[in-house]
Amino acid sequence: MLHLRSVSIMDAEGIVIRIKTPLGDMDSSVDSPSLLNFSDLLVAIRDVMPEATVTAFEYEDEVGDRITVRSDEELKAMLSYYCSTMNEQRVNGQLPEPLQIFPRAGKTPGIRNIHGLKINAQDIQYQEQLGQGNGGTVYKAYHLLGKRVLAVKVIPLDITVELQKQIMSELEILYKCDSPYIITFFSAFFVENRISICTEFMDGGSLDVYKRIPEHVLGRIAVSVVKGLTYLWSLKVLHRDVKPSNMLVNTRGQVKLCDFGVSTQLVNSIAKTYVGTNAYMAPERISGEQYGIHADVWSVGISFMELALGMFPYPQIQKNQGSLMPLQLLQCIVDEDPPVLPVGQFSKMFVHFITQCMKRQPKERPAPNNLMDHTFIVQYNDGNAEVVSMWVCRCLEERRTPLPQCRTVHHDGP
Ligand code: ATP
Ligand code: MG
Repeated sequence: MLHLRSVSIMDAEGIVIRIKTPLGDMDSSVDSPSLLNFSDLLVAIRDVMPEATVTAFEYEDEVGDRITVRSDEELKAMLSYYCSTMNEQRVNGQLPEPLQIFPRAGKTPGIRNIHGLKINAQDIQYQEQLGQGNGGTVYKAYHLLGKRVLAVKVIPLDITVELQKQIMSELEILYKCDSPYIITFFSAFFVENRISICTEFMDGGSLDVYKRIPEHVLGRIAVSVVKGLTYLWSLKVLHRDVKPSNMLVNTRGQVKLCDFGVSTQLVNSIAKTYVGTNAYMAPERISGEQYGIHADVWSVGISFMELALGMFPYPQIQKNQGSLMPLQLLQCIVDEDPPVLPVGQFSKMFVHFITQCMKRQPKERPAPNNLMDHTFIVQYNDGNAEVVSMWVCRCLEERRTPLPQCRTVHHDGP
């Protein structure tokens, strides 16, 4: 209960604040609303919802739009709005409704550091390993306080505390990423010489482990990838590492991008340990030239070509483990005409989409708007997540129960 003493005209009768929580409502009486400040109210909310990291709350205006309150000023505006509606209700002979507020949980559960990023490493229970890349290892994990499953990428980095701080502040933009096509970022923290990056867990994993994906499924996946990239580009962020292993799917049919290079320092620190060039990089990047959005577009093209064919489109490039290769081996991407999807097996619009994305000249590749307007994307932009969901579920099922071993029977000729 919030009890504050001093009385003003507005405070004559005090007010009741109803905190709406997922587990039910909690009413608090406030004797002197004019003395109430934002932090008092947050403390009251945290008492009611100890497991959430509430950083703000919302109220509804007369048309039901939610308005966020994050400061004393916004709190004052809310109280004065509420008092005027309360007076109206009284004039109309109604009993005033309590002031309803809706706590908003921040995306950073646990204890924050000065960068607003740190969570308690002890609160994470590691489960199985999901995969290993060139930079680090990804684990499925359970966050005890937040009661949610996470994917935690652990990258060993021998760097100074200064660099660690720089990486942490560069990662801050991840908190602002809010798109259904981008993996949700929860937190990042350093423990000794390792950084752990905690994100949403995707139960379908990454697309590199799926074999050939049929065009009608791939079309829906491409729509999400293009929307995810368009979102990142709108934030002035290049992905820089578009490839099938950085496209994640889940059994709900969602497709989300992960591992985009928001932290130059992190990318540089990993690159010092793991040398090699990424096989999905555009020719201009392989040759060390300047690059921009168009380089991401190339990577979309080559990734979808691989996913459609079930093999890397340059047969002379054998990717055994991971996507990093010696630079010389990738020279053919710079020198040769880009590969084209076989027309007979795929629709004309799909072949055209890939061909456009894989133009050797960056400027000839589609710009963000043209990508969204391409007929291949337009045709599959129907919001049908069911198609991807069913595909993912079927593939997961097949992986769990492998088909009985097929034996090849050789028949000798008559
Ligand atoms: P690279 O290090 O070259 O980027 P990579 O993308 O394969 O290669 P990681 O990013 O370390 O390597 O990821 C390893 C694997 O972990 C992925 O291939 C994917 O299968 C799995 N993975 C990563 N993030 C998630 C997630 N959020 N949910 C589920 N699985 C994930
Ligand atoms: Mg990755």
